[in-house]
Amino acid sequence: MGRLDGKVVVLSAAGQGIGRASAVAMAKEGAKVYATDINGELLKTLNGVQGIETHVLDVTKTDDVKAFLSKIDRIDVLFNCAGFVFNGTILDTEEKDWDFSFDLNVKSMWRTCKEVIPKMKKQGGGSIINMSSVASSKKGAPNRCVYGATKAAVIGLTKAMAADFVTDQIRCNCVCPGTVDTPSLQDRINALPDPTQARKDFESRQRIGRFCTAEEVANLVVFLASDEHVSAATSAGDILSTQHGR
Ligand code: NAD
Repeated sequence: MGRLDGKVVVLSAAGQGIGRASAVAMAKEGAKVYATDINGELLKTLNGVQGIETHVLDVTKTDDVKAFLSKIDRIDVLFNCAGFVFNGTILDTEEKDWDFSFDLNVKSMWRTCKEVIPKMKKQGGGSIINMSSVASSKKGAPNRCVYGATKAAVIGLTKAMAADFVTDQIRCNCVCPGTVDTPSLQDRINALPDPTQARKDFESRQRIGRFCTAEEVANLVVFLASDEHVSAATSAGDILSTQHGR
């Protein structure tokens, strides 16, 4: 028996990294997974994985998001994973960088949640998982100014939604990973003058001595997608505080 048997999941950014690992992990636990990404080529790597159906979807396109979600009757779990890292301080940013980063990292969650929450209310509950980061209101990270601002907004948005919909049995949580070894992390490393040294420097910043893996974050996503933390929340209120909007 899987931990997500019978659940229907929709997630974004499933083409690679944390999103892909989460799609695979949730399907393995018995969920029917609608795995979406803007990049159809990346989604092809999920072809043939049992329980996964792939769809090209750009979460910055309101009409496309609406049209896609309107075709799925029941949605038990929504994982808003898509996000973009803008590298730089406030002095490096232009207005377009703020607009793009907030559009993709935050406003995309409004697009999906606005369509999915009415379905969850009607069906008696659900779980929404938003992707934040430790670079947010949790911690200031160098050269992550606009990114950190968007991820702090995700925490605020998640807590507000949790407060609004907890009585509808809709759980809202976000995950705040540190540095996770994903293709986009490697792209950011490759863009630096000495990628080999840069990777070592990145790694040495991790007190555990290594990067987190996408699969490790996916384990947390599976837990939040499952009903296991409904009862756990009463005793682990701090970890799961966003569920109650505290
Ligand atoms: P990634 O950056 O390697 O991949 C992102 C995926 O998002 C790609 O498949 C890409 O095609 C897709 N995507 C980009 N724009 C899109 C759009 N408009 N609509 C739909 N899909 C789109 O993945 P990652 O590093 O695993 O990051 C995933 C999420 O986790 C992001 O929100 C990121 O900010 C967050 N995060 C990552 C780390 C890390 O160290 N990697 C740490 C904390 C949080």
